[in-house]
Amino acid sequence: MSLTGKSIIAGWDGAGSGESVRAVDPASGAELDPEFEFVTAVAVDAAATAAGAAFDVYRETSPAERAAFLERIAANLDACRDEIVARACLESGLPRARIEGEHGRTTGQIRLFAREVRLGSHQGVRIDEAQPDRAPLPAPDVRQRHIGVGPVAVFGPSNFPLAFSVTGGDTASALAAGCPVIVKAHNAHPGTAELAGSAVAAAVEACGLPGGVFSLLFGAGRVVGQALAAHPAIKAIAFTGSQTGGTALMATAAARPEPIPLYAEMSSINPQVVLAGAAAGDLEAFAAAYVGSLTLGAGQFCTNPGLLFVPAPANKLVEAIAAAVAAQTGQVMLTAGIREAYHEGLARLSAAGAARVCSGRAGESANAPAPVLFTATAAQVIESPDLQEEVFGSAGLVAAYESMDELRAVLEALPGQLAASIHMAESDHAAAAGLVPTLERKAGRLIANGWPTGVEVNHAMVHGGPFPATSDPRATSVGTLAIQRFQRPVCYQNFPPELLPDAVRDDNPHSVARRLNGEPQL
Ligand code: NAP
Repeated sequence: MSLTGKSIIAGWDGAGSGESVRAVDPASGAELDPEFEFVTAVAVDAAATAAGAAFDVYRETSPAERAAFLERIAANLDACRDEIVARACLESGLPRARIEGEHGRTTGQIRLFAREVRLGSHQGVRIDEAQPDRAPLPAPDVRQRHIGVGPVAVFGPSNFPLAFSVTGGDTASALAAGCPVIVKAHNAHPGTAELAGSAVAAAVEACGLPGGVFSLLFGAGRVVGQALAAHPAIKAIAFTGSQTGGTALMATAAARPEPIPLYAEMSSINPQVVLAGAAAGDLEAFAAAYVGSLTLGAGQFCTNPGLLFVPAPANKLVEAIAAAVAAQTGQVMLTAGIREAYHEGLARLSAAGAARVCSGRAGESANAPAPVLFTATAAQVIESPDLQEEVFGSAGLVAAYESMDELRAVLEALPGQLAASIHMAESDHAAAAGLVPTLERKAGRLIANGWPTGVEVNHAMVHGGPFPATSDPRATSVGTLAIQRFQRPVCYQNFPPELLPDAVRDDNPHSVARRLNGEPQL
């Protein structure tokens, strides 16, 4: 498919603002064709209005119809796999194997949501039958299901051009919930965005759904993104990216005449705790595994293990880690802006008193800075918020703690996190148990003897956590529970059977899982 550089708005290209963007190959700095035209405010309104008009039709699709639509999107993405992988590699600088894996993860999670929709448990159906003879008052018949909240605006990050972008987990979970979706394309990978958006638009058409079920808008976040977030037809926002962008959208969502829920996944340094028994193990193997996770994808992961706590004295472990970092070569970063932010982050760590121990080699591209290792004490981390803040890239900070009390204190001082790991031997289990209550309060995912990069997409996964990891600690943006973010409960009291929606009818025509008078059925 040849790229058009146009937005997708229910059959209209939305051009006319006079502004545009070109993708840049981050390895060479070369601009890529075509130009992507930014949309006007009129186009934002057209997309949001079309989404609002499509909502009632789309949300009443049967489980089988909605699942078939999701599966069609996945099939369309498979059909253009080579093209989309090639373009995503070019626009992101990420290696082909990584992007191929991301493509599989993207289609895999869409198909997982399709299976979930067929099962129907996300509708959360509960039926409490009438009790006409109850004394002193009869009980009414009450039937509950969850419906979609309405059109959802999706903002993806630069670092996952497929799995968290146009057809990523936010879009898939919102569509699964029965919500039309409008994506504000990321300007770092507009061609990838158009290819993925076209796969969704083709599925909308093939399934006979209204065009407003899906739109893709090119434009600047602060203009088009903000106009979209403020539009009255939008009923929820999903965002993945920087804390600056996420908090700006939090303010917009809250300041609207009708405030709406916003689910922003932002910033996390993902503390790694090494306990005494683990620190006495195979240090070289440990260091190699740590540095592998730290430098994966040039460290551009929200799950990057940025802060490692080790028991003092830590000289041998730091030496092993330093040797592993020194052997690394920098990989191409996603954009020149992100590389600059990485250098600013390194300077911030130095200014806050962290000691720069060593660095690896810079890569061949001017956009491939070297990984860097810093050390500090846990006491310094407690004192300095700058040492608690994420540096997006391959920058590791190893902080030595003097006692379990100090370790607990430094963990208490940290803000909310997506993930935290405890590296332990069997002899450490009692100490680890003492840390779990603190870590449960701090993070959405606790890991034993593992690294936080690599997030399984399944039913039990939590990719969330207290602020600033996310804007809403009650939610996850990965896994089937993500659907709940875009739903709300509605109940029907004493409704005539013929007026009840299928999901709460006595004969349960779609065989969805439900609770009858409190007891699970199916
Ligand atoms: P981002 O800059 O926050 O952008 C994500 C999306 O949100 C883009 O489409 C962007 O549009 C839009 N956006 C940004 N600010 C906005 C605003 N005020 N109002 C409305 N929309 C807005 O995220 P990113 O591109 O993934 O990362 C860029 C920076 O964030 C890097 O410097 C990196 O250090 C930092 N960061 C990212 C992550 C992550 O997980 N991705 C984690 C930590 C830190 P425009 O591009 O048009 O503005």
